Amino acid sequence: MDQQGESRFAYRGVPPGVVPYYVAVEVGAVALLVLAVPATRPAPREWLFFAVLLASAVVQTELSAKAERMRRFLARNPHVSVASVWYFAGALVTPPVLAAVLAVLVYGHLWLRTAGGVPGSRLYRATCSAATLVVTVFAAASVAGVAGPIAAGLTLALVNTLLVMVGFKLHEPSRPFLSLAGSVSENLLDAATLCLGVVAAALLPAEPWLVPLLVLPVVLLHRGELGRRLELQARDPKTGLLTSGEWRARAEAELSRAARSGGDCGILMLDLDHFKRVNDTYGHLAGDDVLRAVAGAVRAEVRVYDSVGRFGGEEFVVLLPGIGRVHSVAVAERIRDAVAALAVVAADGTRITGLSVSIGVAVHPAAGGGVDEVLGAADKAVYAAKNAGRDRVCVSR
Ligand code: GH3
Ligand code: MG
Ligand code: MG
Repeated sequence: MDQQGESRFAYRGVPPGVVPYYVAVEVGAVALLVLAVPATRPAPREWLFFAVLLASAVVQTELSAKAERMRRFLARNPHVSVASVWYFAGALVTPPVLAAVLAVLVYGHLWLRTAGGVPGSRLYRATCSAATLVVTVFAAASVAGVAGPIAAGLTLALVNTLLVMVGFKLHEPSRPFLSLAGSVSENLLDAATLCLGVVAAALLPAEPWLVPLLVLPVVLLHRGELGRRLELQARDPKTGLLTSGEWRARAEAELSRAARSGGDCGILMLDLDHFKRVNDTYGHLAGDDVLRAVAGAVRAEVRVYDSVGRFGGEEFVVLLPGIGRVHSVAVAERIRDAVAALAVVAADGTRITGLSVSIGVAVHPAAGGGVDEVLGAADKAVYAAKNAGRDRVCVSR
């Protein structure tokens, strides 16, 4: 076996508690199947539902495979899978054993098509994930029989989330348990997926051939989530502003558009005054609170389509498409006033006031054609503002 293959199967270096937990979930899943199989005699129409759902899942996974590899790579939380549309529908309209087998097949196909090359993917984890699905689907199917599809959906989401959260927590003991519950948008994706599962289940008895029509909405739901995740990658985690790389890409695009159309584009460079003192007086965590507050103040003073980026530590950049010198200075002055008016309350309750910022303004095309030239001019203007006593706006000549 090659080295990569070997590490995929290995339990080596796994934190204590993980292996017993995985084994317990796997034994539970096998026990459920062994107990339920002898009593299960699926009717022909249930086999038909199974086949339609499996075929739809295979097509959807194939159409989503590329986006899914990317999404897995970017994921930090337990992984939400849109494939639950298909096995949740299975849990509503087929016997639990059939739904569980469907879930394992759908998951196995997804794993084979998307886990390759994604760091951190391991076969023992995949096996436990499949076992988790079996337990989850059995729970959802039993609830569906007595309490209907909505209660079954909630059960599926809850049981799956809890089982996966415990596994993750054992792997990463330092992470707070609740942070593993996923973001609001991840949970919304989960909910949307389960809604489509209910629709698929409602269609199956009367119009099974219409169920594959749900493939496209599921693929698009999945792509939308990837898009949101990529957008998050372009954001500085501390302030939520654009990263300097993303800001630069937008500035380049905007300046070439301005060059083509002959319009202006203002660029502001901001540097907080005596920020070291803030850190020294109140601590770095309070310093971070100040950075977040300043970021919010800058954003509040510009239009939605202006781009605000974090250039470096306590330096920010603003791109003002279509704005010339006079208006750029006016925006800069507004930002300066807004920063001066800030009263930041740090986590320990301390109020931090008296903040100020030095701002350099440069405008395309007067200050140059490329981003570097205009930024360089704005940077020089910041130095001029610092040398002139800080807390002011200077314009590049
Ligand atoms: P000046 O008015 O000349 O700009 O003075 P300054 O103290 O702001 O000087 P300088 O720009 O050299 O220092 C910036 C400081 O910002 C130094 C660094 O410790 C702090 N800093 C950079 N990034 C962060 C951050 O993410 N969080 C916090 N709390 N501080 C940061
Ligand atoms: Mg600085
Ligand atoms: Mg500074």
